[in-house]
Amino acid sequence: MREIFKASELQEAFSLKEKGAVYFAGGSEILRLGSSVGKVKSLIDVNSILSHEIKKEGGFLVIGAAVTFQEILECGFSPEWLRKAVHLMASQALRNQATIGGNIACVRDDSYLIPSLLASGASLTVYGTRGLASIPLEDYVRKGGCSCLILSVSIPSDVKVALKRFSRSASSHSALNIAASSRGVFACVKSSGIALSVDELEKLEYRDDITGSGEYKKYLALEEAGRLMKEVNA
Ligand SMILES: Cc1cc2nc3c(=O)[nH]c(=O)nc-3n(C[C@H](O)[C@H](O)[C@H](O)COP(=O)(O)OP(=O)(O)OC[C@H]3O[C@@H](n4cnc5c(N)ncnc54)[C@H](O)[C@@H]3O)c2cc1C
Repeated sequence: MREIFKASELQEAFSLKEKGAVYFAGGSEILRLGSSVGKVKSLIDVNSILSHEIKKEGGFLVIGAAVTFQEILECGFSPEWLRKAVHLMASQALRNQATIGGNIACVRDDSYLIPSLLASGASLTVYGTRGLASIPLEDYVRKGGCSCLILSVSIPSDVKVALKRFSRSASSHSALNIAASSRGVFACVKSSGIALSVDELEKLEYRDDITGSGEYKKYLALEEAGRLMKEVNA
């Protein structure tokens, strides 16, 4: 049996997290059988303290951490590449539940959103030890996440992102999820890691798993990196 605390303030949620509890947003990962989050006793429901809003602010699209994949898909001013990225989550039932903040926080090597958001140059507003802070998504991913609470994601409005996901079926785990922009190439390679440049993609240790052999994934990744860069520069 798990206990769930309903947080009413950011500081309260963060203190509970520091004591070993885990944030609970959409719950699609936490409540999944065999979840990567593991068996935790205490959950912090952060839904009432996180923004559920998508808005344009200056030259940015600002998406509240509690916004679901389906809400991004249905929002009239989500850029086409972002709509394509959230639609990689094939199940509408799951899209209704899963939040953008939860997806980023998992830092999975088959993340639906991380490669495209990295390519866009997105940054996060977070709440942590030093209160409110803004950090580039790239730094967050490099650290493999952190204990801070993600409050929102800011995406430059005028960016062009090209992306592609490779999996056996729309609902299977992806062997490769890759995106490119004028910032470079970013990719999640299942069982192998997250690469933040072509150089890192070349140096990854590609491992065999149910999605394919390491050799297959390396071939796909390097071929697709070149193709996507051409698409972005066309
Ligand atoms: C059948 C199935 C298949 C899936 N396949 C994939 C897949 O291929 N790729 C993929 O990326 N995901 C997959 N998922 C996982 C999941 O649906 C997504 O990652 C989802 O976006 C997680 O969001 P959530 O709001 O449900 O997170 P939750 O389950 O609520 O939380 C997940 C983790 O994120 C943390 N968290 C949540 N919100 C925040 C926040 N605002 N700040 C900091 N930490 C936070 C939680 O503490 C927890 O550790 C799958 C899930 C299921 C059930």
